[in-house]
Formats: sequence, structure tokens, C-alpha cells
Amino acid sequence: MPALVLKPGREKSLLRRHPWIFSGAVDRVDGNPAAGGTVDLLSSKGDFLARAAYSPLSQIRARVWTFDPSETVDADFFRRRLHSSLVTRHTLNVSRDTDALRLVHAESDGLPGLIVDRYAGTLVIQFLATGAEYWRETIADLLLELTGLKDIYERSDADVRELEGLPPRVGSLRGALHETRITIHENDLEFLVNIATGHKTGFYLDQRQNRLRVRQLAEGREVLDCFCYTGGFTVNALAGGAKSVLSVDSSAEALALCRENVSLNAPPSTLHSTLEGDVFQVLRKFRDEGRSFDMIILDPPKFAPTAVQAEKAARGYKDINLLAFKLLRPGGFLVTFSCSGGVDAALFQKIVAGAALDAGVEAQIVEYFAQGPDHPVALNFPEGAYLKGLVCRKV
Ligand code: SAH
Repeated sequence: MPALVLKPGREKSLLRRHPWIFSGAVDRVDGNPAAGGTVDLLSSKGDFLARAAYSPLSQIRARVWTFDPSETVDADFFRRRLHSSLVTRHTLNVSRDTDALRLVHAESDGLPGLIVDRYAGTLVIQFLATGAEYWRETIADLLLELTGLKDIYERSDADVRELEGLPPRVGSLRGALHETRITIHENDLEFLVNIATGHKTGFYLDQRQNRLRVRQLAEGREVLDCFCYTGGFTVNALAGGAKSVLSVDSSAEALALCRENVSLNAPPSTLHSTLEGDVFQVLRKFRDEGRSFDMIILDPPKFAPTAVQAEKAARGYKDINLLAFKLLRPGGFLVTFSCSGGVDAALFQKIVAGAALDAGVEAQIVEYFAQGPDHPVALNFPEGAYLKGLVCRKV
């Protein structure tokens, strides 16, 4: 077995079972491992620490498959891990409320770099690291075997693949899928998802339970849904009896699908309108015009993928949250999110508190949001907890 031998003292994170080894921790490479092939991770003294996938071009030089020296990384290994992910979803009972859910959440399911989402009868898959890519065909075959489904669509076009030296790849991987617009059902609502061109694998599955809560909080409110994408929150707010919903996004394509999703779930109505624009500018304009709302949703894209960009991201979050607090009527809800890996929950809360202070408003947190249970966070991989949200009520 080829091996990566670590520098003295650099085994600490592995002993805590963190699944990543950075390039700076590696003293030398023994043997000739293939990109994505399996290597043993050894301490400077030669002790076995873990068995991992080798990423020769990435700063994350290896991602752990197993900490068990007796476990071989082969098709059976992937069958066991995939099976266990599917059983977890089954026991969580997520599919009682939806036919769209995350089946494999990468590192947190013991399968670094692998994302598998289910949209009704179609699986959408992302291979985000060299190791997962190496086992691509095996994993695809096993998924068909274990789920009984026929169609797998590949969305290996996330930016992180570049860091691994992998080119983007999009298209049908198994089956003969012709329709890439798929209708999914979530809590008795319907959504059209474009798995070929949509963000991530098509839909923000991680927001499912938060969408439901927005539905429960929206009754009678004038809602402003910022960064609305294809209308996940918009449709739920309308279903919850909102007085009106204005959906804002900079993408005309997202807004078009948002309107389709609204009409899928309700008769044509004047309660809903869309606005194409930059949220930062729209909020400023609304402030200058003295407009106000009873519920504002802020679900921006990732401002800071890593801690390095956190400061700039913090300014972005502060800006939109401050403006939103100003537009909110007393008793109104601000539903605000960050999906930046570089901004943790404590920092995010601090930013939102600073925004309220500078806006001159008093507010209380009435609810904490996170990603849904089909996006688990392995305790040895805190990076898996990327989505945080607060529901603030303006006093
Ligand atoms: N709330 C959505 C997901 C939001 S994704 C849901 O639950 O489905 C982020 C969205 O922000 C994308 O649709 C993107 O087009 C949009 N976006 C990014 N930057 C923007 C900006 N400055 N102004 C308006 N929209 C923006």
C-alpha cells in the first residue's frame, strides 16, 4: 500500500478523527499512489493512522475513508457506507414529507467528496474530490443497486473541483434521462427543479424544514423574500397565508422558475410579484422610499467559503441585515441566513446583533435554524455545519 508519512506531531487531527490531511502535514510519499487512489496515512514513527484517498494537487492532500486498519477500500466498502447513509435517511423519516432529499452528505456520511441527492425518481450526484472521482463508476453502479432507481445525473461542476485539479463534468451518468426539469413534492407543495442548470444539484434541500417554519410564521404578513432563487421560501410564505410576497433575485432565470413554482401551487393571484435586481441596491432603494414589511427573508449566496474571506463577508452580512432591520415593522420577523463555511454560528449572531444595534432597533432571536437532518454533521467534522439561520423578531 502506498503511504503518506506525516511530519512529527502532525497526526493530532487524525487522532481526533478529522478526515482531512493538509499538504503541509505530509513529510513524504512512499510508493506511487494514483490520483484518487488509496494510501495509508502513517505517523512519523510509522504507525498506521488512517486509510485515505490521495489528492496530489489539492491543499487537502488526503481524505480519510477509514480509521480501521483492517478495512479494505473496495466496492464492498462503498456498498457498506452507501447502505448506511440510506438507512440513516430511512430512520430519520425525511421522505414522509418529501420525495427530494440528500442521501449522501460527503464527509459527514463517511464518504468525503461525495454528494448524492434524490429528486423524485432521479439521483443527482456530485464527485467533489479526487477520491470520490476515482470510484465514480463503482459508486454509480452501487447506487442503482441499493436504491432500485435507474437514472443518475451528474453535476460535477462545483468550483471546488478545480482545487482538486478536476475538470467540470455535467450530464447523464446512468439511465436515459431526457427531462432535466423534475417536479418534486415537499410538504404537500410542488416545485420544479432544473437538475441540469440549477444551483448545487438543483434545489436548496438543506432549507426544507426552515421553509416549513416560514410557512407557519407567514400568515397575514407582507413578505420580502430576498435572494429568492426558484421560490422555496416564497411558495411557502404564500401557502402559509401571507398577505403578499415580493421575491427579489438578480437572476432572471431563477425568477422565471420562481413564478412557475408559485403558479404550480396556487391559482394566479396578485399576492405575488417578482423584482430582478441586486438585493444590496434594492434594500437601499426601499429604505429611501420608506417601504416596510412584516417578514423579510435574507438567504444570500456563500459570501465566505473559508475563514480567510470572513471579514469581507461580515461586512456584506452586516449591510443587508442592517437595511432589513430598518425595513421591518415592529413585530416583524427577519429570517436571516448564512451558508458561509468561514462564518460560524457565533460570528453570524454577532454580525446580526451589530446590524440591529447600528439600525437602532431592538430585536430578539425567537428561533435558530440549521440545515435539515438529511444533511448531518459528523461530530469529527464541524465544517459540515455550514448553514445557520436566525429568526429575529423586531420589538
Ligand atoms: N433562498 C433560496 C436560495 C438562495 S440562493 C432557496 O431557498 O431556494 C442565492 C440566490 O441569490 C441565487 O438565486 C442568486 O441568483 C441570488 N443572488 C446572488 N447575489 C445576488 C445579489 N447581489 N442580489 C440579488 N440576488 C443575488
